[in-house]
Amino acid sequence: MAQRISHWIDGESRPGTSGRTSPVFNPAAGEVAAEVDLASSAEVDDAVRSAQRAAAEWRSTSLSKRAHILFELRQQLSERADELADVITAEHGKVHSDALGEIARGLENVEFAAGVPQLLKGGFSEQAATDVDVYDIRQPLGVVAGITPFNFPAMVPLWMCANAIACGNAFILKPSEKDPSASLLLADMWQKAGLPDGVFTVLHGDREAVDALLSHPDVVAISFVGSTPVARHIYETGTANGKRVQALGGAKNHALVLPDADVDLAADAIVGAAYGSAGERCMALSVTVAVGDVADRLVEALAVRLPKLVIGDGAESGIDMGPLITAEHRDRVAGYVEDGATSGATVVVDGRESDLPERGFFLGATLLDHVTPEMSVYTDEIFGPVLDVVRVDTFDEGLELINNNPYANGTAIFTRDGGAARRFQFEVQVGMVGINVPVPVPVAYYSFGGWKASLFGDTHMYGPEGINFYTRGKVVTSRWPDPASSQVDLGFPTTR
Ligand code: NAD
Repeated sequence: MAQRISHWIDGESRPGTSGRTSPVFNPAAGEVAAEVDLASSAEVDDAVRSAQRAAAEWRSTSLSKRAHILFELRQQLSERADELADVITAEHGKVHSDALGEIARGLENVEFAAGVPQLLKGGFSEQAATDVDVYDIRQPLGVVAGITPFNFPAMVPLWMCANAIACGNAFILKPSEKDPSASLLLADMWQKAGLPDGVFTVLHGDREAVDALLSHPDVVAISFVGSTPVARHIYETGTANGKRVQALGGAKNHALVLPDADVDLAADAIVGAAYGSAGERCMALSVTVAVGDVADRLVEALAVRLPKLVIGDGAESGIDMGPLITAEHRDRVAGYVEDGATSGATVVVDGRESDLPERGFFLGATLLDHVTPEMSVYTDEIFGPVLDVVRVDTFDEGLELINNNPYANGTAIFTRDGGAARRFQFEVQVGMVGINVPVPVPVAYYSFGGWKASLFGDTHMYGPEGINFYTRGKVVTSRWPDPASSQVDLGFPTTR
């Protein structure tokens, strides 16, 4: 019988009562490994009540105690990184070293949040008016929820929960139903770190649970990461219900390669960024824009690298690329390769013909050249191991192509020309920019987020903007007058 994956409410495993479950696969074996419970709206309500009870006490917990718990969580994550990576690889399929990489980037967010006593310091103005002081404080929101995608089952929840909890909120995580187990390991780590029960909740589910969170009157804010259509739905519904919402969507990230670039360095970087995690990264480079005569040299350099990628079960050593998340997704990605070929792109390397394991949801690395902007392989986020090459004549043409794309998550330029890189950084309409850096995910003390269809809302995720998102400001104006000088004054208070 398949293993059952249950919710985590009030500091304990809580089997679902809705009677609905969803299969969780081991994508490398192509088999169902578990069934995950899907919460009903009544179960969402129970979880919110538990979180609300916990939030009331948690916001009174001292900053140094909160920081201490974050340090303990950091310790848990470091000591148990392999255990967590095994769980991620088993359900997501990414190779073990890549799973360790996402844990390391998640851990940086815990380290940032451990600085919460410093992060929540406000300003103080003595003598703003005669004998009047003014200061500002940032207070937690209450119960906040995070809805996360399958492709980073540990890092994205940590982007959210570390800061949310450090700021004094109770956090409800609704992880992807495709790889839900990492979230339960995180729950166990939080508990062992000393977090009071109910402050971190895991509620598994699908649209029913998400919609119940979006309409629940006691959920104050929602952080979402996932595809653009769902991000738009979350933003529109959440804000219509009066919630604070940050909803990060899909991507089509371009690399602009100038004729002066070191072609081997650029090719190494682009192959890693396009095919790492089988292309299932929101910061994957899925389009290479080759300027002028660099195109032939670059395509050749990319093509020689692809057959060397070893594809197989990410749990085994020496594997570069694991399977895709489901059979349907693998077939959808393979369908795009076919579409590209029939619409006139040159299939330089065809991942459908790679040497692939017999079982599991595998697809090899595909390289498409002479892609044009109307082709579906260009317009759509494929989210698989497919790299387009679009050839342009000039830097300006490349920049215009990138700026015309509806997505604007990340981009990278490869060049040895500092002036061109500076101009690119200044003019490109994209939220995260790499200069000879293929996957420019900001470090935890900056904030992460794209522009346009890659982010709905005003705040980027984690870092300083994350602290702002999970708190609201209050300004206090205070005076301790001498009762002897008290008198009625109907004038508007002035400061001079
Ligand atoms: P998804 O949008 O299908 O699912 C994300 C979350 O939303 C999951 O928890 C899922 O259960 C829930 N969900 C799915 N359909 C829903 C619906 N109709 N109503 C309410 N909730 C729903 O995304 P995914 O396939 O899990 O993840 C891949 C996508 O996430 C890609 O588009 C990728 O670019 C994007 N992503 C973006 C970022 C970013 O930072 N911008 C980071 C990671 C992933």
